[in-house]
Amino acid sequence: MVRLSLTPNALQILEERYLLRDPDGKVMETPEEMFRRVSEWIAGTERNNREYWEARFFRMMNNLEFLPNSPTLMNAGLPGGQLSACFVLPVEDSLDAIFTSLKNAALIHQSGGGTGYNFSRLRPKGALVSTSKGFSSGPVAFMKIYDAATEHVKQGGKRRGANMGILNVDHPDIEEFISVKTDRVSLRNFNISVGITDRFMAAVEKDLSWGLKDPRTGRAVRNIPAKKLWDQITGTAWATGDPGLIFLDSINRDNPTPGLGEIRSTNPCGEVPLLDYESCNLGSVNLSKMVTAHGGNYEIDFNRLAETVHAAIRFLDNVIHANHYLLPQIKSISLKNRKIGLGLMGWAELLMLMEIPYASTGAVKLAEKLMAFVRKESYKASASLAEERGCFPSWTESRFYPDQKMRNATCNSIAPTGTISVIADTSYSIEPLYALAYRRVGILGGKSQQELNKVFKTKISRMGYWSEHLENTVLQTGSIQKIQGIPEQVKNIFKTSLDIPWEFHLQHQRAFQTFTDNSVSKTINLPAEAGAGDISDVYMTAWKYGLKGITIYRDGSKEKQVLQRCNVS
Ligand code: ADP
Repeated sequence: MVRLSLTPNALQILEERYLLRDPDGKVMETPEEMFRRVSEWIAGTERNNREYWEARFFRMMNNLEFLPNSPTLMNAGLPGGQLSACFVLPVEDSLDAIFTSLKNAALIHQSGGGTGYNFSRLRPKGALVSTSKGFSSGPVAFMKIYDAATEHVKQGGKRRGANMGILNVDHPDIEEFISVKTDRVSLRNFNISVGITDRFMAAVEKDLSWGLKDPRTGRAVRNIPAKKLWDQITGTAWATGDPGLIFLDSINRDNPTPGLGEIRSTNPCGEVPLLDYESCNLGSVNLSKMVTAHGGNYEIDFNRLAETVHAAIRFLDNVIHANHYLLPQIKSISLKNRKIGLGLMGWAELLMLMEIPYASTGAVKLAEKLMAFVRKESYKASASLAEERGCFPSWTESRFYPDQKMRNATCNSIAPTGTISVIADTSYSIEPLYALAYRRVGILGGKSQQELNKVFKTKISRMGYWSEHLENTVLQTGSIQKIQGIPEQVKNIFKTSLDIPWEFHLQHQRAFQTFTDNSVSKTINLPAEAGAGDISDVYMTAWKYGLKGITIYRDGSKEKQVLQRCNVS
């Protein structure tokens, strides 16, 4: 067995947030013991071959080939251990319902989960409230209350919760919503997205007037030019990064159980569209470990990948059984649909190992081939679990019925892997590297220092371009693009996020989305000099590509640059 080897960054994160502590607050397990605790608990749901699966699950985590989402690592085996990362809660139009969901959100945050909500069912600001004869404060005011509550419920005293707030594009308060974050204080613990419909996009394209409707009656209360709203959305996103868009029609076209209701919201980072009260367990395969090397040449090891995907799908299906559900409504719908989301991390490092530039058609084609393979194997694994354990209970009401037996209503999601990729020491999700050097945290109060990405360092040395000058330049600038004497084709392999045109960012998102039944969390990074017109082009192209959501970040547009929007610490 390979010995677990962790970077100082990974160790620090694990010690601060993941490893169990005794009542005096002293860390009482090693990272290896953490993986044992998790594998024992998750394999504990197996009827036969429990020991085999425990060893298998332990091996893939300890080798950093697969990691489940953070709450599973933190809480597996603990009394009342809540293991899911993603939830959607309803926000109905009554004070009672609004504050019931707020309380439930606080409980979910406390357990390490994130929550998404669509506030569009709330009556607009200024509408009459019959009980008090007063006027409603409107959805944005209630979102601010949710935000304030989030601010003060720290997860295990360590990180704040994360929220997704959605308002549909035909809600009368949409303009207030679009600009709510421009003061840079409001909704700090929210990602916000406008719920977009195909009808609205057609109205933008044809420059038509757009009706804002009272959600209680469906009647238009006001008309504005669709284009004006679009310009406000893209202009505000240019200035602050928010709002993103959620494409409700694309999401509902893929809703596996339309009979159980319409999907209105996603989880905080957008990778899982869910019904009200539904939860989802995520996990990610580390692609940088799914390779074989022949000399200095790397290839994807599809056999190992298939084997890992099968074990990971089984692991995530077990999580549904091993989980503790905070509410009966969450338990009921989660057990009915058994949604899981297996995704990937380390895509950028895989491409570097294979010497394929991220900004190339070759990379996009490989993304399609890879994700098609992951989906095929995930579905095979879920189908074989269905043979062994039965289909998910709402299968007869699902799109899979009767042709394909499935254990899970969904199998794949591309999550941001904001923390687990640091634990696994690989690149985030399907994102390109943000820089070729990163800051290593100072252990035990030591000074933080810059360090080169290990894959870059190995590759560039093998290629014969290593020099002290190169090292110093990369440590200072994070890039090799301006170094003389390095051929263009080598520079292309090591382009970072802001060197990559948005068109390629988006093509990668589309390639992965095409073969992902849930959604893909991706940030389209743009350089500081990008204009509002670029944001409009990105958002429009995202819709035309049939994506389920879109998030951009223009360099420097937030005071504190956060690489992953949900990685609030
Ligand atoms: P991790 O790497 O910690 O497993 P990800 O960055 O992949 O998590 O995020 C996956 C999902 O976990 C998010 O979409 C969100 O639902 C949830 N999540 C992430 N960060 C937080 C947070 N600070 N608080 C609550 N939930 C979070």
